[in-house]
Amino acid sequence: MSYDADVIIVGGGLAGACAAFRLSPHFDVYLLEAETPAAGASGAAAGLVNPFVGRRARPVWRLREALDAVSSLVADAGVPNLFPPRGVLRPVIEDDQEAPFREAAAEYPDLAQWLSPAEVADRVPAVQTDVGGFFVPRGGSIDVAALVRAVLDAAVERGATVETQAPVLYWRETPSAAVVEAERGDDTEELRADRVILALGQGHPPFPELRRLGLEGVKGQTVRVRRPEALPTPLLPLSGHGYVVPDGDTLILGSNYNNNFNNLDPDPDATAYIREKTARMVPGVDTADVVEVRAGVRVKHTNTNLPILGPLPQRTRLWTFTALGSKGLLTAPILAEALPTYLADPATIPEAVQIPS
Ligand SMILES: Cc1cc2nc3c(=O)[nH]c(=O)nc-3n(C[C@H](O)[C@H](O)[C@H](O)COP(=O)(O)OP(=O)(O)OC[C@H]3O[C@@H](n4cnc5c(N)ncnc54)[C@H](O)[C@@H]3O)c2cc1C
Repeated sequence: MSYDADVIIVGGGLAGACAAFRLSPHFDVYLLEAETPAAGASGAAAGLVNPFVGRRARPVWRLREALDAVSSLVADAGVPNLFPPRGVLRPVIEDDQEAPFREAAAEYPDLAQWLSPAEVADRVPAVQTDVGGFFVPRGGSIDVAALVRAVLDAAVERGATVETQAPVLYWRETPSAAVVEAERGDDTEELRADRVILALGQGHPPFPELRRLGLEGVKGQTVRVRRPEALPTPLLPLSGHGYVVPDGDTLILGSNYNNNFNNLDPDPDATAYIREKTARMVPGVDTADVVEVRAGVRVKHTNTNLPILGPLPQRTRLWTFTALGSKGLLTAPILAEALPTYLADPATIPEAVQIPS
């Protein structure tokens, strides 16, 4: 059987890029992207790396390995500067958060610290709290679109091929190959591989085989504003009333969650909501000049908050890697790192991310 590649990856967002990078030392990889890299959710993300989530600061899945995988990814791809060691601060915004924050800090002393109000004010003068805050030194933020582009460039250096403006229209599996049909201008072409990994993000609805997996889309947006000159510095990535991520002389504000949407355009009401919400954490950001608003759709599995990875039901050669939800930075790198092992032996895929059959 002659293949066009060992592995074809469909989708050049965070999932597809991480997969291409980690597979390219072992396999001949060909990635097809419908538009440009990070055209989907990865281009809208604020890029917060916050391993303690929700009101009660619950640890994410495999939190230490997940953080290690983010650091290894930027180091191995030659872009450690994209993940500067800044930390993430979670100021207490409701009094009942103090107890769970203190408990998490006590349980994970190597990963988190409880800060008094004075220590919070010392670290981030713009944030006022009477109670305190939860600081995660190994957290931070990453420009996700820049990461996707850098990781794809590094995959190409390792021999992968990346083709943009090449939407995949159709796929099938035969006993000897996985086949995709890609659009090339007015034409289409079939490409064959040993395996195909579908990492389409919100590209899934036209494909019944993916829809049947129980995926749902949650639209959200980020608002980039000019940093107000009067805002005291230093500023760190913050998560509380929404989140605020400093990026040069701008701040990225997020986000909103909309399950019921009929277009992918930024929504002015959501922009107003995000500015008002984040101003309750960092006064003044609601009147700062808006530089850019980006919307995207986080894809999640209806029943879990974890990605899904592995062969589609009744398939062996057609795989998916999707449903990264709102925490792609803490799931895509760790799963992609082990992808060569999973491809060789699908039984090693952790049960928590296996596709329900
Ligand atoms: C507003 C917002 C804020 C977020 N903030 C954070 C954050 O702070 N931290 C964090 O960790 N995560 C965050 N996320 C989540 C994160 O962005 C996602 O988990 C991650 O980017 C998803 O990556 P993906 O590759 O699965 O999907 P995508 O990035 O959507 O990539 C899918 C790609 O597939 C391509 N494609 C689709 N259909 C086809 C086809 N038929 N053929 C070929 N290509 C196709 C698309 O063009 C796209 O480039 C946020 C998301 C949003 C929307």
